Amino acid sequence: MATATSTQTPDRLTSYNPATGEVVGSVPVHTAAEVDAAVARARVAAKAWGALSFAARNEELTSFRKALAENAEEIAELLHRENGKPLLEAYAEVMMALGHVQHAAARAEEAMAPRKVSAGMLANFKATVSYHPLGVIGVIGPWNYPLFTPMGSIAYALAAGNAVVFKPSELTPLLAVKIAEIAAKTFQLPDLLQVVTGAGATGAALAKSAVDKIAFTGSAATGKRVMMAAAERLTPVLLELGGKDPMIVAEDADLAKAAEAAVFGALTNAGQACISVERVYVADAVHDRFVDEVVKQVRDLKVGGDDGHLGAMTSTAQVAIVKDHLEDAIAKGAKVHTGGPNAITGNYIQPTVLTDVDHRMKVMTDETFGPVIPIKRVASLDEAVKLANDTSFGLGSSVFAGKGARAIADKLRAGMTAVNAVMAFSGIPALPFGGIGDSGFGRIHGDEGIREFTRVKSTAEQVMSIPMNMMSFRQPKDMTKRLRGMIKQLYGEGVVAKAGDFFRKLRG
Ligand code: NAD
Repeated sequence: MATATSTQTPDRLTSYNPATGEVVGSVPVHTAAEVDAAVARARVAAKAWGALSFAARNEELTSFRKALAENAEEIAELLHRENGKPLLEAYAEVMMALGHVQHAAARAEEAMAPRKVSAGMLANFKATVSYHPLGVIGVIGPWNYPLFTPMGSIAYALAAGNAVVFKPSELTPLLAVKIAEIAAKTFQLPDLLQVVTGAGATGAALAKSAVDKIAFTGSAATGKRVMMAAAERLTPVLLELGGKDPMIVAEDADLAKAAEAAVFGALTNAGQACISVERVYVADAVHDRFVDEVVKQVRDLKVGGDDGHLGAMTSTAQVAIVKDHLEDAIAKGAKVHTGGPNAITGNYIQPTVLTDVDHRMKVMTDETFGPVIPIKRVASLDEAVKLANDTSFGLGSSVFAGKGARAIADKLRAGMTAVNAVMAFSGIPALPFGGIGDSGFGRIHGDEGIREFTRVKSTAEQVMSIPMNMMSFRQPKDMTKRLRGMIKQLYGEGVVAKAGDFFRKLRG
């Protein structure tokens, strides 16, 4: 029997270790009124924080990062106990998250620097685009990467000058409470990063509250509910949803490297990554050798235990989804090489390699979010690309190939592609992260991820007056005629006028 990983009474939420069933701890269930109060406090903090210089915010964020690094052991231990992931993966998550805190803090000033743009026809104007903090950002997070994923919003929102109210997953609340404790001790301003805890109702309260933007990471179904709730106040949303990431392996790929990457990409975090390799398309000529290599590597992996490569699945519900996908695939003709639906014990799933799969099977179309590697033989790269793009999702993707790798990558309809690697885009803080279609919209990470938490302001500043002022009712009698001529000259088939000619004409 798989064990429950969180339970809730009206006022307490208890988090359990999915590997052992032991209680990790409990937290309050915050009501809508408490969420609103947290947002109101955050607004006060946002005002002061947004008025600081970039250098001052960078300094504060650097202290926060250092404090997180000082507490790395405790944070990793909590990640391990609440989520079920092996300690090695917990430390890797802490490291990646801190990389983003550092990057966001250091980049904010440049990413938000005002830009002078062409004033076009209004050449007597100076035109500027500037970026300003939004105010308070509500962040709603998932359980699979309880630190790394929300930090992609939290760090970037803070660096852009906003305060944050964070609602973690009900499966991993203690980790978030720990982060808020560290924030409270580190930041000079109180309430800059607050955590509210509870299940969906607390998240829904945050989505309905007076925040200036909601950054949501989770399933597409919940994402839609969040967007509907946010619509009440026209609160903008950033949605980081699920994926069904394809991997393409071409005939001229380095097969050993491709197999190693497929195994890691599909099985890290027990396959519970939004950018997991969820399906693999392999060129006919190398399919069998690739499968042999993948199966060999998978057989060397250990599930569970302190030195295990794969930990326990975080949620009992997810175990049931994986089992269902496996049974559906087998019923429709898939061949099982390792693992399978009978190799599930409690929250532990043995990594499963499938071949003879096709797009009638859930395992090739729906997000499995478990340790499964479905491999499909393809007759050509065109077929691989067509099948890879045959999805309503569009988050990550990967290509293993020789010379033509980049050309294949460019044909993939996805937010991100790794070439001769998997998942690498998530470890490069300068690259924006996000999806299209059912994978959501908006971007975290990179300069786009900083500007995602800003409002854009356009300023048109008249620096020189000219006799002819188009923004006035006082126009010469022949203005209609002049404009008619100018339209033809500027935008029609006639000679395109230079700015100087244009102004000479305007002056008459
Ligand atoms: P989920 O949708 O069940 O829950 C996500 C969060 O939403 C939780 O904090 C939950 O309490 C909250 N929530 C639930 N109902 C709500 C409501 N009505 N209003 C507001 N909030 C509500 O997702 P999950 O199971 O925690 O996470 C797994 C999913 O997240 C997968 O689909 C995965 O692919 C996706 N994910 C995406 C990314 C990404 O960056 N694109 C990263 C990690 C995970």
